[in-house]
Amino acid sequence: MASNPSAVLFKTDDLKVVDRPIPKPAPGQVQIAMHRVGICGSDVHYWTHGAIGDFIVRAPMVMGHESAGIVNEVGEGVTTLKIGDRVAIEPGVPCRRCDYCKTGNYNLCPDMKFCATPPVDGSLARYYVHEADFCFKLPDHVTLEEGALLEPLSVGVHACNRAGVRMGSKVLVCGAGPIGLVNLLTAKSYGASKVVITDLDSNRLQKAKEMGADCCIQVSRDMTAKDIAVKVKEYLGDLATQTIECTGAEPSICAGIYSTRSGGTLVLVGLGKPVVNIPIVDASVREVDIRGIFRYRNCYPTALEMVASGAVDVKPLVTHHYELEQTLDAFKTANNPTSGAIKVMIKCNVE
Ligand code: NAD
Ligand code: ZN
Repeated sequence: MASNPSAVLFKTDDLKVVDRPIPKPAPGQVQIAMHRVGICGSDVHYWTHGAIGDFIVRAPMVMGHESAGIVNEVGEGVTTLKIGDRVAIEPGVPCRRCDYCKTGNYNLCPDMKFCATPPVDGSLARYYVHEADFCFKLPDHVTLEEGALLEPLSVGVHACNRAGVRMGSKVLVCGAGPIGLVNLLTAKSYGASKVVITDLDSNRLQKAKEMGADCCIQVSRDMTAKDIAVKVKEYLGDLATQTIECTGAEPSICAGIYSTRSGGTLVLVGLGKPVVNIPIVDASVREVDIRGIFRYRNCYPTALEMVASGAVDVKPLVTHHYELEQTLDAFKTANNPTSGAIKVMIKCNVE
């Protein structure tokens, strides 16, 4: 009998691959044979802590939301996809009816159902069903792995859009984790003339260098936020026109404010402590706009074009591969700061 091994988080520290029924596509949905699912920091956090803010794992939940696969069955009424289509999956499906949805800001929909955000099951399984209109058909030359990477890349697209990065921008990216790196890639492809990136970790900065950073600043905990701003100014010849903060760490947010030039924009991508102490008057009197982002909206098409056209190369983000059955090892690697992991990828089906 066919089986559907699925990576299920039962509770904190209790992640197992177990067999689940193969889901049937409802009208408007497709069943997808999953191929690649990347592990995100949020997956690891649910595994180690059982919750992120108010989202608490109260019932067993399938993990995974950075994914791509091949359409295996088509639900009633689906005309845009057929069996055999290779697709990237945009993991959040909003209500489509509220004011946020109707104005295109569907990432802010209060009824968003997002893969592997409790209580919604994710896609780290052999078979998974999803709304057809949140699946993006990949051209033949785009791999399923690149398809899975459109998810984090979309975060970079949304952040750079919100920051107003454009031709000639001089951008500071704080943090060279996967999210800092996708912002680096996006900023460069949007025409930023220089991108400076910071991190505490020299290995992460080495990766950033390989992926096109014009300059890397290794920060240390004894540097003040103003020291960092001086370095940024040195490298860019001016303060940054846009800063994209991808650590969530209070000292880095402070450095982000001081490093952004008057009239510029600081986008807060990193999510750390819920309440932080920041030099708000400095931002205020210099008209530094501080903007948040939540995931992305309407960004998959752009992210796909960026990859398909060759404007960005996301492949170097992937440092490790595992089979679905080895999910626990994959999570251990993703959670091990000495593993050198950036993006850990799980193969759910043999190609
Ligand atoms: P990560 O932990 O892999 O990377 C963060 C990096 O920041 C690390 O390399 C770390 O060494 C570095 N860092 C920590 N403190 C620093 C400091 N003071 N100065 C410079 N660098 C510092 O995480 P990630 O997967 O890249 O995600 C980054 C952040 O983005 C997380 O907080 C995550 O929750 C958040 N995120 C937000 C959204 C959103 O929609 N707003 C979406 C995805 C991720
Ligand atoms: Zn809605």
